[in-house]
Amino acid sequence: MGYPKGTLCEVCGKPGRRGDPLTKGHIIPKAYGGPNASWNIRPEHASCNRNRGSDYTRADVAEAMRRHQVEKSQKRVAEAQRTGRLEEAGATGLQLEGG
Ligand SMILES: [Zn+2]
Repeated sequence: MGYPKGTLCEVCGKPGRRGDPLTKGHIIPKAYGGPNASWNIRPEHASCNRNRGSDYTRADVAEAMRRHQVEKSQKRVAEAQRTGRLEEAGATGLQLEGG
């Protein structure tokens, strides 16, 4: 389902293969309240996903939290860039009005 070529399974580190494609696996399983947020979703073989079942380890929790932090800081940067541009646009508008 829609992972670009060259994407690797984050459980076993191998690419998707015929009959065992990469699927969107939940790092913290849905059964334990893992959300459908992108930080909790990673490429996993259908078979790797099945083998994990609804188990997760401390490493999985740490990984999910790390990804959550990364995503939050990326959003902050994107927001700052967006607001920066908006302020610039606003300032230009005022100048035009004044002149
Ligand atoms: Zn795998």
